[in-house]
Amino acid sequence: MSIVINADPDCLFCNIIEGKIPSTKVYEDDHCYAFRDIAPQAPTHILVIPKEHIPSADVLDEGNSAAAAHCLEAIPKIARAEGLENGYRIISNVGPDAGQTVKHLHFHILGGRRLPDQMA
Ligand code: AMP
Repeated sequence: MSIVINADPDCLFCNIIEGKIPSTKVYEDDHCYAFRDIAPQAPTHILVIPKEHIPSADVLDEGNSAAAAHCLEAIPKIARAEGLENGYRIISNVGPDAGQTVKHLHFHILGGRRLPDQMA
């Protein structure tokens, strides 16, 4: 079981990290967790999340940005392991206009086919 910094007991992704809600893990280290999206929009659709409850990229600052940077450092390792040598897209939705549905910072990795020019 992993510990989440500033965990929110009502947060879906905090509960996934803590193993209280099942997920298909593809990567984990001390600072981030990655798992397959339950409703994939591409052949490969992975979510990378920090083991710190940060509601979105809109609240990043010098006190928590290292957690986000660590997720970004994990992404190339995950992409290589998934065979995404032809490219992939990284998306982080912020707030209602962007369609953010889970208020725990997450980076979508989308790949495995030619993605449409407009996609979120
Ligand atoms: P966003 O809309 O950017 O907030 O992304 C949230 C993502 O979480 C969506 O792509 C959902 O399909 C995904 N999601 C929601 N619940 C689960 C779950 N239990 N396991 C895996 N992915 C999930």
